[in-house]
Amino acid sequence: MKKAYKKPLYEAEMIEDINLWISTNLVSTLNETEFGCTAGKDNFYIDDFGNVYGCSMMATYTELKAGNLKEEPLYEIWNESTVFKKLREINLQDVLGNCKNCKLLLTCKAGCRACAFSFHNDLMSSDERCPICKKELILNDDKS
Ligand code: SF4
Ligand code: SF4
Repeated sequence: MKKAYKKPLYEAEMIEDINLWISTNLVSTLNETEFGCTAGKDNFYIDDFGNVYGCSMMATYTELKAGNLKEEPLYEIWNESTVFKKLREINLQDVLGNCKNCKLLLTCKAGCRACAFSFHNDLMSSDERCPICKKELILNDDKS
């Protein structure tokens, strides 16, 4: 019978369950060094004004605008925009802050890039919404 979880998996420190969930979901298709964020790689977002972003979460930040459809065609934005190129080239090994030393980094893949950007105006920042990142939750190595 399935266990009934009363808390999110990370709060319950159920690391095997987190890994199982991740391995059966989208993240498993990414290579080992990639961020889990698919913005500018598998998806994009266009707002009402024709502005193009990697995803709707990124539309909050003008710095993350990849282009505008009134100024250039989508294929050009997709292929040539500096923002999209950056999203495709950044690597987990360059992440800044507490995510860098997190033992879940290769499975979590450093959370959301738009949320990380919101903290330090830097796509390489840690996603500080995470309780592990904020040091509110310490993972227990000895739990078996
Ligand atoms: S600190 Fe949190 S967001 Fe960062 S890699 Fe670890 S689990 Fe993911
Ligand atoms: S991780 Fe965040 S920024 Fe990246 S695609 Fe998902 S919601 Fe958008």
